[in-house]
Amino acid sequence: MTLRTTLDFLLHDWLDTTGLTSRERFADHNRETIDAVLDTCERIAREKYAPFNRLVDTQEPHFDGEKVTLPKATHDAFKAYAESGMLSAAQDYDIGGMQLPYSVEAAANAFFACASVSIGSSLLSVGNANLLMAHGTELQKQVFAHNEFSGRWAGTMCLSEPQAGSSLSDVATRAVPDGEGFESDPLGARYRLRGNKMWISSGEHELTENIVHLVLAKIPDADGKLIPGTRGISLFIVPKKMVNAQGELTGVRNDVALAGLNHKLGWRGTTNTLLNFGEGKFPVDGQAGAVGYLVGQPGKGLACMFHMMNEARIGVGIAATMLGMAGYYASLDYAKGRPQGRPITGAGKDAAAPQTRIIEHADVKRMLLTQKAYCEGALALELYCARLIDEQHTGTAQDAEEARLLLEVLTPIAKSWPSEWCLEANSLAIQVHGGYGYTRDFPVEQYWRDNRLNMIHEGTHGIQAMDLLGRKVLMEEGKGLTLLSHRIMATVNRCNGIPVLAPHAKALARALQDVGVATQKAWSTGVPGEALANAVPYMQAFGHTVLAWIWLDVAGCALDNDPQQESLETQGHVGCAKFFFHYELPKINAWLGVVQSRDLTCATFPEGAF
Ligand SMILES: Cc1cc2nc3c(=O)[nH]c(=O)nc-3n(C[C@H](O)[C@H](O)[C@H](O)COP(=O)(O)OP(=O)(O)OC[C@H]3O[C@@H](n4cnc5c(N)ncnc54)[C@H](O)[C@@H]3O)c2cc1C
Repeated sequence: MTLRTTLDFLLHDWLDTTGLTSRERFADHNRETIDAVLDTCERIAREKYAPFNRLVDTQEPHFDGEKVTLPKATHDAFKAYAESGMLSAAQDYDIGGMQLPYSVEAAANAFFACASVSIGSSLLSVGNANLLMAHGTELQKQVFAHNEFSGRWAGTMCLSEPQAGSSLSDVATRAVPDGEGFESDPLGARYRLRGNKMWISSGEHELTENIVHLVLAKIPDADGKLIPGTRGISLFIVPKKMVNAQGELTGVRNDVALAGLNHKLGWRGTTNTLLNFGEGKFPVDGQAGAVGYLVGQPGKGLACMFHMMNEARIGVGIAATMLGMAGYYASLDYAKGRPQGRPITGAGKDAAAPQTRIIEHADVKRMLLTQKAYCEGALALELYCARLIDEQHTGTAQDAEEARLLLEVLTPIAKSWPSEWCLEANSLAIQVHGGYGYTRDFPVEQYWRDNRLNMIHEGTHGIQAMDLLGRKVLMEEGKGLTLLSHRIMATVNRCNGIPVLAPHAKALARALQDVGVATQKAWSTGVPGEALANAVPYMQAFGHTVLAWIWLDVAGCALDNDPQQESLETQGHVGCAKFFFHYELPKINAWLGVVQSRDLTCATFPEGAF
């Protein structure tokens, strides 16, 4: 199946995306307009992204001390993307948007991630602008967000610092009021920032006229001390170049300097930067300190950032998924053409017989089916979550509330599951290629390198797991987990009546029960150190159970449309579900074993014994 066939099935047959067009906000859309968006993105990705994926990997961004140079292909791709209108796809018509459902936007962006994740599709700029639309003043929206949606300016997220990665409460960038009348600046209360931000993606480039940095910093108290913890964190807009209230560049450079580029394992088409704020390299009004405009209330900066975390994490999940998918397609293609070995027959191997193609070996099929099950399952999960975001924005009050609760528990999975398992898919894609997969003559090693990032950024794997077990499954008296269980049981009950799926339905009901028991046992002593010592195995088991549910539901839908499994597409969906239940779901027992016994082997291992 092609990516388009898979997307069409998931969006229209499974999620009934066209059904959204009966809602007022999406009333101008229909199957044709949705298809037109997918067609356009598929074409731009094919023409402007895919052919240059290797080039942007080998021609890394270059900094000559003044400017960062990116390949021309990156400029062309960015221009084509901005001209397609995708930067403002979900926005209102009156600011130039298309009022497209988020699920369609996410599906359309999948083409770019598959073609060249490294060139990128400006998800950071869109996330940055969306945050300002939710928390900025009218003028901040007009001046900064609107110019990002048009592609005139780009955006960043500046959270991390060299000493503060997972632990953002240790952010040390300081923001002090910028003199008399600092509160009356039309662009927002004006501060001067000083500090270093590490790992900032797209922190410097010449793709756009200006860059809008969104920066977390702390405002010192009256004694000049920073408030410990996250309570003290505020959010600021820090433009690379100063602008006036009309959104025009003033010709003054803000005091933000590129200290250097990070040289990465993968994802090399995007710059990654260490930025120095306020060191005095570009003084403004003769004074060191980067000028920043407060967004929202002081001390509430992290809450504003979290506003956009669900979408950002679905974006990471889709990137991981599509890298896995790109490797799957490449290795499938390779396996169909590579002759090697002979079939095992009843009489053993006949050395004089012609070689078979490797796709005929059971073990190669196992590797291909694993990739297909991981990647198509992950794509279904991401689109399901994207659809929940549409429910949250445009559903009835009850549907919106349910979507919110489900997103609380599913977002750590949407981010982490593809990051781990679609990376494993990339490893299998290399394996299918044998020695050739280990060379740079084939694309699969790059997919693996690019994908390796996803378990690290937007909350590491370990941090996501602690968020899931330590917070999300417990919050609001476990309402999110209960609701998810109801949804899973609805699928179980439906599929119990479909003979080919009934054994899987039973296995899923058991798995769900096991996850529930393990959740309780992990917390039975109430000691966080014991419960969370095995948070990652818990997240793996939880994630595999969610994916088993997704596969069962997808297979049920495919069989509703084609009960006799006449099409290969249906056979693919039902076969993947079978694979997942036979080869993957049973793994949860080992993971849940250490969770429910609160096994402290790792936690208590003496440091000196390593
Ligand atoms: C290519 C790339 C792009 C990035 N882009 C951006 C960006 O645009 N903006 C931005 O702000 N940041 C960005 N980041 C930063 C990224 O979010 C951080 O790297 C990440 O949050 C981890 O922080 P750290 O690197 O300091 O690792 P650390 O926090 O030091 O973590 C190291 C290891 O320790 C574990 N660990 C840490 N604390 C705990 C704990 N309490 N309990 C258990 N385990 C723990 C982690 O899980 C991890 O395995 C990017 C990073 C990379 C590599």
